[in-house]
Amino acid sequence: MKNSFDIAVFDGDGIGPEITRPTIDILGKLAAQSTYELSFTDCPAGAAYYAKTGESLPKASMDVARESDAILLSAMGLPSVRYDDGTEISPQIEIRKALTLFAGVRPVRIFPGQRTPLNMPEGREVDFVLIRESTEGLFYSQGSGEVTQDEARETLLITRDISEKLFKFAFKLAGDRKSKGVGPGRVTCVDKANVFRAFAFFREIFDGIAKDFPDLVADHAYVDATALWMVQKPWDFDVLVTENMFGDILSDLGAGLMGGLGVAPSADIGLDNAVFQPCHGSAPDIAGMGKANPMAMILSGAMMLEWLGTKHNNAAMMKDGTRLRKAVEDVIAHGDGLTPDLGGTGSTSSIGLAIIKELAV
Ligand code: NAD
Repeated sequence: MKNSFDIAVFDGDGIGPEITRPTIDILGKLAAQSTYELSFTDCPAGAAYYAKTGESLPKASMDVARESDAILLSAMGLPSVRYDDGTEISPQIEIRKALTLFAGVRPVRIFPGQRTPLNMPEGREVDFVLIRESTEGLFYSQGSGEVTQDEARETLLITRDISEKLFKFAFKLAGDRKSKGVGPGRVTCVDKANVFRAFAFFREIFDGIAKDFPDLVADHAYVDATALWMVQKPWDFDVLVTENMFGDILSDLGAGLMGGLGVAPSADIGLDNAVFQPCHGSAPDIAGMGKANPMAMILSGAMMLEWLGTKHNNAAMMKDGTRLRKAVEDVIAHGDGLTPDLGGTGSTSSIGLAIIKELAV
């Protein structure tokens, strides 16, 4: 059993370094009390780095990321730093494409005590996972869209190869959840197959892969109706799988249901590598003020422990991943010292300390 893990750390832009600090601190403390080892390597990249050096993602950082066991990333990009074509510096998207991290995993959980804008019926809990394809779709033509004086065009790409990998991942995840007693084992393909041929193609590939998983339920929904149902009856969902741009938008809706971007974690997973990072961006409007909520990044760290533990059959890591998620949820449920985005007056560091206290590490 593998016991020692190299983690590439991109602390990024804006609030990135502030939320990375407590995350590494907590992960280091958990490892120190357990049987596995984590070693962290800083990887410079991002918009501020580009402004300083003219490079957004140095080869040395990409090499460390490629060789690592997992990648932990805060957020990158600053609206004030742009390429000549007006688009932003986004190494996080380059990494997803370079390492073929096709499955963007966005868990949405609403548990008793959590702040949510929803009026939750008594006894209901929400626990579903949105999987956003993360290497193609409408993001395929990023940086190469055609713009003339009178027209703009971007191209959406759906491939059989990536879609098959994506759907297999989704069905396996639904099966794993069902075996742990979470969810009924149902995967919903979210598309717009009523209008676009590309999505009819996407759906046909989904139906083909579904036949290999006869114990699980395969379902379909249109993306517009899915947005409605995420607000009206989110407790009905189990695993949702969708195209890159649809997933980009629906995952922020999911974050909103959970009380905001500050508590929404994510992972971008491929066959060999994976990046764990919060759903939010670099929040330049609050950078340097000490009020960024580190929970989304800490929860992403918990997902990293669970993923590494499952991949390497390391029970101690899996256990710590679940324990860390539970500790964050308990701090939210107690409601003491939360950061301003959750209605409190706490700070980035006080939240880190509250989670450490909850974990008793
Ligand atoms: P954002 O997610 O950074 O911020 C949106 C709002 O949410 C802001 O009001 C911000 O203060 C708040 N917020 C976000 N994270 C928070 C946290 N942890 N605690 C408390 N409040 C938080 O989105 P944006 O303003 O549209 O983008 C800012 C920059 O981040 C842009 O340059 C954008 O390109 C980049 N970005 C990067 C990623 C990524 O690295 N994955 C994702 C989205 C945006």
